[in-house]
Amino acid sequence: MVKKSIIIISALFISFTGFSQHHEHKGITCFHEILMKKVAENPQVLEQLDKYEAEMRDHIAKMKSGKGMATDTLINGKRIIPVVFHIIHNNGPENISEEQIMTCLELANIDLNMENTDTVLGVNTYEGFSGRRANPRLELRLARLDPDGNPTSGIIRHEDANANANTYTDMPQYAWDATKYLNIFSVGAITVEGMAGTGGTVVGMSLFPPTNPLTAMFTSDPNCDGVLIRHDAIGNIGTATDLVGKGINAQNRSFTHEFGHYMNLYHTFQNLSEDWDMNNQSDQMDMMLTQFMGTGCDTVSYGGTKLYGDYVDDTPPVTAATQDETNDCLPVGSVNTCTNNIPGYGDEPDMIENYMDYQWGFCANMFTLGQLDRINATLDGYRRSLWQYENLIETGVLNYNDIPEQINDSGFELYPNPTNDILNIKSKSVDFDNAQVELYDLSGKLLLNNTLQENTLRIDVSGLASGFYIIKINGKSEKFIKK
Ligand SMILES: [Zn+2]
Repeated sequence: MVKKSIIIISALFISFTGFSQHHEHKGITCFHEILMKKVAENPQVLEQLDKYEAEMRDHIAKMKSGKGMATDTLINGKRIIPVVFHIIHNNGPENISEEQIMTCLELANIDLNMENTDTVLGVNTYEGFSGRRANPRLELRLARLDPDGNPTSGIIRHEDANANANTYTDMPQYAWDATKYLNIFSVGAITVEGMAGTGGTVVGMSLFPPTNPLTAMFTSDPNCDGVLIRHDAIGNIGTATDLVGKGINAQNRSFTHEFGHYMNLYHTFQNLSEDWDMNNQSDQMDMMLTQFMGTGCDTVSYGGTKLYGDYVDDTPPVTAATQDETNDCLPVGSVNTCTNNIPGYGDEPDMIENYMDYQWGFCANMFTLGQLDRINATLDGYRRSLWQYENLIETGVLNYNDIPEQINDSGFELYPNPTNDILNIKSKSVDFDNAQVELYDLSGKLLLNNTLQENTLRIDVSGLASGFYIIKINGKSEKFIKK
């Protein structure tokens, strides 16, 4: 690793703009290098990012205080996102099967509901991180109606001679309205500007929402919004069993990672410190070196708040991407590249098990609560239209048994709903600790009361007759169905 870095540094001194051609990747990668290059070329973006991220912090704070929540629809406690797969192919293996695509959705929905089983503490997840695993409660569903209201399978195949040399050239012509559908563009290969012939494989390159100033450096076309991913990083069967010669995508984590970017998550090792002056050559060099040698430990300062490179408090700072060239996972808790003493967290090991780092897919298994705050703010902001009830109807993704629940301002959620036996009550944002929980039937008869502990409560409703019931907390109510 050290040897490699030295070669890279000398390459940088020889040719700053052409740095990436000298950078050898043996493994798989996302689009970090090209992002760093673009920031160096467009230093003014850091000021815009500063503003954008300040707004993001405000939005998150507002949501956490229980104000400004979206009044959209939960289906069985989840936000449903209609998706369409655009299979861009040239009649080769990249024209993947429907079965392979379905494994992508199944596995993504496992991760997006924290139902993954690779969660053994001390083996898959460092003990200190267990309390901050986050459940996004999202469900991706194939669209059943296209933008014209016609029936669709949600899988559209496009024969295209450029299927193997793709960045943002082909996507716009195929995109469906990105405010209604998550467009997933599957291609043979991704050829990133300035990264041709590096020996590495760019598996995916999904942009942040179009409102994020970093996205505008890549494209201003909203039709490029979505997940751009190689066919062999989709699902875990068919071509995905041999991603860059390795069975590393067994759990579809490349897609989970790309989806994270789509939801406005950065790499945990990203650091675009605003302290860098891009007109200053030595600062430029510092920033470029971050990706090789690491200064990802540096702080970014925000109105008195110190943050780390990915703008998330509960992912420990990481000096550079975690990538090992063996087929094994690094032991959790074994890597600690930054020694910063973070208020509230102390000096923790790197969170190499985070979906937004670069370990092999079978080593990553969690988003954090801080990352979920960003996902929620994005779903309450730019991506809000996707999961609105009207859009679920328009895209045809609702099923007969789905019960829309208005979540406006009760401040808590009930799940699963409907339920047979256990009903979980959980505060969404408001502090309900020790609040009284009351369960009524539709005639207004009080059947049960109890107290929320640490904003959650689990009650057994197996003794209730089938039908509608109401849970009240602090005068607000939600209904549920006992099956
Ligand atoms: Zn990435």
